[in-house]
Amino acid sequence: MSITENVKRILSELPPGVELVAAAKTRTAEEIAEAIKAGIKIIGENYVQEAERVYPFIKEKVSWHFIGHLQKNKVKKAVRLFDMIETVDSVKIAVEIDKRCAQLGKYMDVLVEVNSGREPQKSGIMPEGVEELVRQISALEHIKVIGLMTMGPRFGDPEASRPYFRLTKEIFDKIRTLGIPNVEMRYLSMGMSNSYKIAIEEGANLVRIGTKIFGERG
Ligand SMILES: *Cc1c(COP(=O)(O)O)cnc(C)c1O
Repeated sequence: MSITENVKRILSELPPGVELVAAAKTRTAEEIAEAIKAGIKIIGENYVQEAERVYPFIKEKVSWHFIGHLQKNKVKKAVRLFDMIETVDSVKIAVEIDKRCAQLGKYMDVLVEVNSGREPQKSGIMPEGVEELVRQISALEHIKVIGLMTMGPRFGDPEASRPYFRLTKEIFDKIRTLGIPNVEMRYLSMGMSNSYKIAIEEGANLVRIGTKIFGERG
């Protein structure tokens, strides 16, 4: 199957209201351009350097989402390149994004990344810390929380991810009811190639798909 066929099939199968991020790590500008031509509107990149490499070759107006682990020394470049940062998991990184955006006169939409599996080595804020982090970010002027993102633990069986997606949706709903100023619970980003159908059943409206679009990574 070609990238074009993959994108068209996935887009035709997604329920209304669910948006697709093409997770493009390791892919060439040509591959990304083909995906865009087939209908992709959002490109997800894990590394600032990779985004910088392909960015000049993509002429179409698409939205760029940062979906990797963001280091403080990469924030300055990241806020220039990206339209959304899906992986904010500390006040420290939020403050840095806010500061760099203020310098550019830019406003950044962000998602808070939840470590729904409570895995010590993984990024994301622990479930019990999400509300406090969202409240702290809400005080910053140039950055706005518009939802949550989670990876969840990796399993062979995607069904095993369901409780972690469900937990993240519960936190999402809880925060929505709090009505915190400068916070919107609009996007719930969860699910990848093997798990996005289950994530959608559990309330995801943003899915990040790489392999099923571009094929196995080399
Ligand atoms: C690579 C990646 C994906 C997509 O993974 P696939 O299994 O290739 O679909 C989604 N989200 C993040 C954060 C990723 O790094």
